[in-house]
Amino acid sequence: MPESKRIIIPRELLLIEIDRRCCFPDCKARVSIGLTKQEAKSYSGFTCVPCNRWNDDTLTEKDVSDWWDEIKQHQFFIN
Ligand SMILES: [Zn+2]
Repeated sequence: MPESKRIIIPRELLLIEIDRRCCFPDCKARVSIGLTKQEAKSYSGFTCVPCNRWNDDTLTEKDVSDWWDEIKQHQFFIN
């Protein structure tokens, strides 16, 4: 039997990318954050790379429109 050449990417490995700006006035660096769907569900912020400080953040529907319903539901259950 020949092996299938079809490439299957598990949904969990799909990445979303969001653009944020560091909230500290002396930094304001632009940060791109890649998240898997699993990470997106527990997302609460990011560490700014240039200044190494934590930024509290949440995802909005605009960031993750494809997964919004699923992520929102998850957040509903853990809150
Ligand atoms: Zn920063």
